[in-house]
Amino acid sequence: MREIDLHVHTTASDGTLSPAQAVKLAADTGLRAIAITDHDTAHGYEEAAAAGAGLGLEIVPGIEISTKFTGAVHILGYYIDPAAPALRTVLDWIVEDRDKRNRKMAELMAADGIPVSYDSMLERFGDVIGRPHFARLLIELGYARDMQDAFDRYVEKGRKYYLPREILPIDRAIEIILSAGGIPVLAHPFQYRLEESELRRLIEYCIERGLRGMECRYTGYDGERVSYLEGLAGEYGLIKTGGSDFHGANKPHIALGSGTGELEVPYEFLQALRAVKNPPCGG
Ligand code: AMP
Ligand code: ZN
Ligand code: FE
Ligand code: FE
Repeated sequence: MREIDLHVHTTASDGTLSPAQAVKLAADTGLRAIAITDHDTAHGYEEAAAAGAGLGLEIVPGIEISTKFTGAVHILGYYIDPAAPALRTVLDWIVEDRDKRNRKMAELMAADGIPVSYDSMLERFGDVIGRPHFARLLIELGYARDMQDAFDRYVEKGRKYYLPREILPIDRAIEIILSAGGIPVLAHPFQYRLEESELRRLIEYCIERGLRGMECRYTGYDGERVSYLEGLAGEYGLIKTGGSDFHGANKPHIALGSGTGELEVPYEFLQALRAVKNPPCGG
């Protein structure tokens, strides 16, 4: 039986289930706990926590921030205080910057006759909008077959409607997670296609700045990769986390709690995370 999933996106960012729906699905799947880790916002947490309380499911507040090191790296933050002023200031800045970029992307599409209006996107999708939402519209409007096709032909870097946005340096992301009382964790380490020496350099750089954990179990990571990452985590004194990166229909191959079938995240991972947040002996 699957126990927990510490990497879940909702409609607060680019998932397709509302926080309450994601929690309901987690309960129906038999999970004991999930973490809500939307991109650049913690707005989904409150609704998820309320739904979790009703269903006896533990909900961990979290966030996922896109950062840059040598290339793109994602940092998860667990047990952040969503109301912490420094965090809110940075998240507001990220969302404003997204907003400017998105409006221009919508204008580029509209100029080519694609009937996309950014104001109606804001109404439909909320305020943390990204390229997956544009991809979804392109599919609905018949311009693309699926997400991959929409990215490949329209919104991937280098494609006609791609525009960059400002990305936070990795040390800033770790710093604001810490300042909001959160636990910084390196997300999906294999997604960056780094050589072992580069991955170690990334880990060491982040640990110096306060990194506490590493996502060792993730959708698509087989036993060999999991053992490798868990070994590295042990070597560096990082706690292990795990999650699916569930996005609902935006990543239809990923199931909550089990990824593509191989994922299993033990409840002990959450206990270890909680112990970092609330160390015994008041340390
Ligand atoms: P944005 O932050 O708006 O630039 O969008 C980046 C997000 O798009 C990432 O967090 C991914 O979840 C998603 N993404 C990037 N490339 C792809 C792809 N090829 N297929 C599906 N989703 C993608
Ligand atoms: Zn996403
Ligand atoms: Fe990610
Ligand atoms: Fe994610």
